[in-house]
Amino acid sequence: MLVVMQAHATEEQVRGVCAKIESLGYRPHAMPGAQRTAIGITGNRGEVEAAWLEDMPGVAEVIAVSKPYKLVSREIKEENTVIRFRGETADLAASIGGRELAIMAGPCAIEDPEQAFAVAETVSRAGVRFFRGGAYKPRTSPYSFQGLGVEGLKIMAEVRRQFGMKIVTEAIDNESLDLVEEYADVIQIGARNMQNFSLLKRAGRASKPVLLKRGMSATLEEFLMAAEYIMSEGNYQVILCERGVRTFADHTRNTLDLSVVPAVQRLSHLPIVVDPSHGTGKRNKVTPLSRAAVAVGADGLLIEVHNNPDRALSDGMQSLYPEQFVSLMEAIRQIAPVVCREVPPAHGGAHSAAAGARSQPAHAD
Ligand code: PEP
Ligand code: MN
Repeated sequence: MLVVMQAHATEEQVRGVCAKIESLGYRPHAMPGAQRTAIGITGNRGEVEAAWLEDMPGVAEVIAVSKPYKLVSREIKEENTVIRFRGETADLAASIGGRELAIMAGPCAIEDPEQAFAVAETVSRAGVRFFRGGAYKPRTSPYSFQGLGVEGLKIMAEVRRQFGMKIVTEAIDNESLDLVEEYADVIQIGARNMQNFSLLKRAGRASKPVLLKRGMSATLEEFLMAAEYIMSEGNYQVILCERGVRTFADHTRNTLDLSVVPAVQRLSHLPIVVDPSHGTGKRNKVTPLSRAAVAVGADGLLIEVHNNPDRALSDGMQSLYPEQFVSLMEAIRQIAPVVCREVPPAHGGAHSAAAGARSQPAHAD
């Protein structure tokens, strides 16, 4: 159920409707839009009696949501969600879902400070505003490198301090989520955890945006329902990420499903980025599919880059060499304007203005 407020409804009227919904034992989710505010209702088992709300001041109409997901849906919010991050200076601000493409780049795993800083230097110079790196790695084998844990988070916090990039890193359980929430700017939930519902609920109570990766065999509806879990707990700052699904094809590690981008955009207001690194598993396919992802209308890319991919402790085969990443950025800088997008400009290395800076909390609109 969805309460659509009149265009000129006051904040007090919105609060009044929310209070009424609470008094009925349900949870209200007010979603302000450019034209009007809509209030989603969750926690109800059956139909909510529309008559209780229809005649309240400021209410335009009460409508049933036709999809199983509510807060994720364009029915509740017509315009795209843009997640904004403040920076110490204007050129360190960043956004996901706006005109500027959100490029997230860095190594699969943080291995040591030298590696992290070498990669950070390359990607920051190329114009990247989001540094990615794993501190907690969900590996297929228990004998593979599992990540540096909190040490890795501390190294990334230092990358943020020196370069001003926002930090994106994965949480694999509730315990690591507590730490990732403390150290990072964006909490990544990996493909293997897309249906870990207790972790999704915990992420829904977090104060930072969540990057939700599509499960390897998740349908579009399952993907959106996973996002709904996060939003239903009150965190509306969700970014979806297509990272390839399992198919019979064996020329790539996964099959990157670029068609999911316009499919998501039709149904949901949430931003969606594409990860051609995990999506293909092969270095030589990352640049062509990054170009395609930008052309198809993705809101950003997630790319693995390593200063020495042949010695990487994880995902070396799909990690770009630094110079390949620089060329990739040049390529998408040319494609972006065709689809009315921009790529942040390349610049010269460690950002002095960022020294000592701690990034401000993000907010969604
Ligand atoms: C990653 O981003 O390093 C990762 C493990 O991704 P995924 O969950 O998509 O496999
Ligand atoms: Mn990886």
